[in-house]
Amino acid sequence: MPSVKNAETLVAKLSEIAMRRYSMIEEGDRVLVAVSGGKDSMTLAHDLAMKRKWWPVRYEMLALHIVTDFAPESNQRQLADLLGSWNIPHVALEVPVIGRLKEGRAMNCYWCATQRRTELIRYALAEGFTKIALGHHLDDIVETLFMNMLYKGEMSGMAPMVRYVKYPLAVIRPLALCDETQIRAFVEEKGFGASTSVCPYDADSRRKVMRAKLRELTGGSIELKRNIFDSMSHVNPEYLA
Ligand code: SF4
Repeated sequence: MPSVKNAETLVAKLSEIAMRRYSMIEEGDRVLVAVSGGKDSMTLAHDLAMKRKWWPVRYEMLALHIVTDFAPESNQRQLADLLGSWNIPHVALEVPVIGRLKEGRAMNCYWCATQRRTELIRYALAEGFTKIALGHHLDDIVETLFMNMLYKGEMSGMAPMVRYVKYPLAVIRPLALCDETQIRAFVEEKGFGASTSVCPYDADSRRKVMRAKLRELTGGSIELKRNIFDSMSHVNPEYLA
């Protein structure tokens, strides 16, 4: 892995490695970047905007902010200002996830995430985008791997790039090799105030528990997390059930 001093260069280098390794961007791609205003998606948007200036193939990008019932207006203004300062066009799409709940059903993160993902894909297809870029990072991917093993009895995680079979569309995760601490350092270094979740339902306790367990398991070591990540592509079926 690259040895560089500042966080911006490090994040840029790691996303470059991921984008090249998984051939994430093709000539003429139209990339829809999902932005929430949080540190991960804003880092992603900034990184892709900077790379557009020199990346060997041309691509367009638009940031899509899905506005749910929980997003305060101040966050939206802050997000619009930041994206504007980086010359990234953006669109806000209102998705009333609470209003869509069937009678008697309680609000939960699974419902919310499904509604947002559906609208994201619908928007991308309707507007002719070829890639959806998401801000998931190394920690998210490793946590998902363990969560799926523990709670679903399944060995699966989040792939850095996934092509939809049914649609001319792929999901890309350019921050797949970036540790969360590196993203946090980047946001602090740049001094842009990414918003933190104020959602009253922000209690994805299983993910929080997994995050703590992962910290215990790896001691926060980026190298160990990368080894877990690498194990997803070094599978030896002979030694599995
Ligand atoms: S924390 Fe809130 S915004 Fe995030 S997925 Fe859960 S319900 Fe949706």
